[in-house]
Amino acid sequence: MEVLIDSEKIQSRVAELAKMIERDYENRPLTLIGVMTGSMMLLADLARSIRIPARIAVIQAGSYKGAVTEAGALVINDAFVPEVAGRDVIILDDILDTGHTLSALVDLIAQRGPSSVKTLVLLRKTGRQVVAIDPDYIGFEIPNRFVIGYGLDFDDDYRHLPHVAVLPESSHD
Ligand code: 5GP
Ligand code: MG
Repeated sequence: MEVLIDSEKIQSRVAELAKMIERDYENRPLTLIGVMTGSMMLLADLARSIRIPARIAVIQAGSYKGAVTEAGALVINDAFVPEVAGRDVIILDDILDTGHTLSALVDLIAQRGPSSVKTLVLLRKTGRQVVAIDPDYIGFEIPNRFVIGYGLDFDDDYRHLPHVAVLPESSHD
């Protein structure tokens, strides 16, 4: 499998993002909300690199059902989102593709009275966006290929890989 971003590169970029967040959120009541399941590695690594007080929460959003690489209807489960009123929220997602998922989550969290809502994505696919949303923090820009690893799945496999790889075309669609 073609490794697109190795684990050393991911770790050093996550450390840089953590530094930016420390600088931007010093003395702010920060809550990191990770979009499950894809952002679990990112949430764990980023949260451990941030040296300012922060709360951690998760929200679940998914649109892929099974072995397909095209999105279906978006399903959101916000049962694990704590009180965010008056807090500064950063929503973390694995990848920005069309933008549907992240913009729906920003709208949902914004309704709960936070002081601010920003977004961070590990990956942004170029040339795929249909909903206008500009993440505040971006790990890497990647070409329009279906990627797996470091939280990202294909049919729920491969999430555990420490790197981001390209799924061979022959194994999907
Ligand atoms: P969007 O709503 O921006 O189109 O899609 C975002 C979601 O689609 C991501 O959270 C992710 O679950 C899924 N997705 C988009 N592109 C890829 C990809 O290349 N690989 C994987 N594994 N998931 C993707
Ligand atoms: Mg996802």
